[in-house]
Amino acid sequence: MADKILLANWKMNFVEPKAYFDAFADALGESSLEGVQVGFAVPYTMLASVYAHASSSYTVYAQNVHERESGAFTGEISWPLLESLSISGSLIGHSERRQYFQETDAQVAKKLETTLKRGHQAVVCIGETQAQRERGETFSVLTTQLTPLLPFLSEDANCLLAYEPVWAIGTGLSATSEQAQEVHGWIQDFLQANGKLRGGIPLLYGGSANGGNLEALLRQPDIDGALVGGASLQPLDFAKMALIACSC
Ligand code: PEP
Repeated sequence: MADKILLANWKMNFVEPKAYFDAFADALGESSLEGVQVGFAVPYTMLASVYAHASSSYTVYAQNVHERESGAFTGEISWPLLESLSISGSLIGHSERRQYFQETDAQVAKKLETTLKRGHQAVVCIGETQAQRERGETFSVLTTQLTPLLPFLSEDANCLLAYEPVWAIGTGLSATSEQAQEVHGWIQDFLQANGKLRGGIPLLYGGSANGGNLEALLRQPDIDGALVGGASLQPLDFAKMALIACSC
């Protein structure tokens, strides 16, 4: 496993892959990203092109995958349909999927199970809303989200968890490094209390991470990387973040 992990989430935005990766490589110059796993979660229609233009040392992810392998699920995409595309894995249970497409905790667990069974990496997103945080429900919400995942989270499971407080996503209002560490430490405690190896599952932070706050976040003991939306759309910004991750 890399020392730090930096995953881009391009959401439903068009990015021209060749121009992006040319500019990304120019911005890195001679610098090596050794010790950092850099990956890109992109729209389905861009997976092949991103794979073709990205350096072979970067990983490519879908942003969602159906829990079943085939069937009458119009508009959905399954692992057997993605497997011709040389991708590493998929985001699962992003808060936008939960919020706008009513994905449930049980469905997220099923997607995790299918993803691991098919031999791919799962990046499972969890996090509380602003209202839940204000009501003091952060840890009970996380308990509810994490509990159905537990049967699949063995220490050798090809899985990352991303703590993404919903109030920080796309708002420019990142959690402070102390707030994020408090929750990441709690997640590791929760996993350990449930028989998992502490630190066995890498934990990413997501929510308005950018070149200005990334270093403080990554210097926290239980933050293994970041999932980055808005700031990953500009190759120069994201290259700067990759270099910061390298130095942490
Ligand atoms: C995300 O979409 O997972 C995300 C973290 O977005 P942003 O960085 O824009 O908050």
